[in-house]
Amino acid sequence: MAKRYIGIDLGGTTVKLGIVDENGGLLYKAEKPTRGEEGPEASLARIADHARELAEAIGTPWSNVAGVGMGLPGFLDLEKGEIIRLTNIPWERVPVRSMLEAELGLPVAIDNDANAAALGEAWSGAGAGFNDLICITLGTGVGGGIIVGGRLVHGLSGMAGEIGHIPVEADGVRCGCGQRGCLETISSATGMTRLAREGLAQGRHSVLDEAEKRGELTTREIFAAAKDQDGLALDVVDRATDALGRVMAMLSVVNNPAAFIVGGGVSRAGDELFTPLRRSYAKHTLVEVANGVQILPARLGNDAGLIGAAGLVWNRGS
Ligand SMILES: [Zn+2]
Repeated sequence: MAKRYIGIDLGGTTVKLGIVDENGGLLYKAEKPTRGEEGPEASLARIADHARELAEAIGTPWSNVAGVGMGLPGFLDLEKGEIIRLTNIPWERVPVRSMLEAELGLPVAIDNDANAAALGEAWSGAGAGFNDLICITLGTGVGGGIIVGGRLVHGLSGMAGEIGHIPVEADGVRCGCGQRGCLETISSATGMTRLAREGLAQGRHSVLDEAEKRGELTTREIFAAAKDQDGLALDVVDRATDALGRVMAMLSVVNNPAAFIVGGGVSRAGDELFTPLRRSYAKHTLVEVANGVQILPARLGNDAGLIGAAGLVWNRGS
């Protein structure tokens, strides 16, 4: 019987679990409350129960499950398999890998959620078939994951791929990380709405003014206004895609990936994002490096994280 893998995507409020086949095809999934406040022991024991229920639900004997992977939102010690600290759950210094291995009796692999999502897209999403690719998630922040030769790149502290913190503006605004002018301050949803607000505060006329007064100024409104040739919205989209295209140009001369996969809430804008982004990338990238590189929308949506988490078990990059 073919092997199965279980992926767990741990979030601040909910935990998503999925069981996948050897091609990264999602067979069954479930969503449960995280209840991080119960503490890691109780919460992880419950998650382990949910993992077993998942296999039972599709009639997979536990002996056919080859391993379990978990994507976590925060800072990890990958060598020790430990949580250092998480973004939305108050757990620190938790040896999550050995705890889950003891609960499940299977090999367990962990990684941060951005890397897990990147691996998911690479395995059975928009990146399938590419050996070298970079995934970029444009949401409230800018996340990323780098895959070289089919394997996730981690680097010294597991921070490889944190492309949201590449500095793009010398005197830019302060980023959540403490540095100034990070890509994330410009090209994330938060960055784009901030730029739009700045423009409105400077007295620029824009249809976005009404959205702001209704308390509904989002990237969706910005892209819709840009489509209608609103000057401020066009400027915001131009700045966000120019900064991201430049960063992709830099990454291209470092890694020369075959594809960039762009996901996250902001990517739902579709062509309104991808057309100016491809233009910016072509403008900033050495032509020999840019040749043949594809810039594609992510395909797996919210399932990327749990599918990729399942893939962590066999994808042990450096
Ligand atoms: Zn930063």
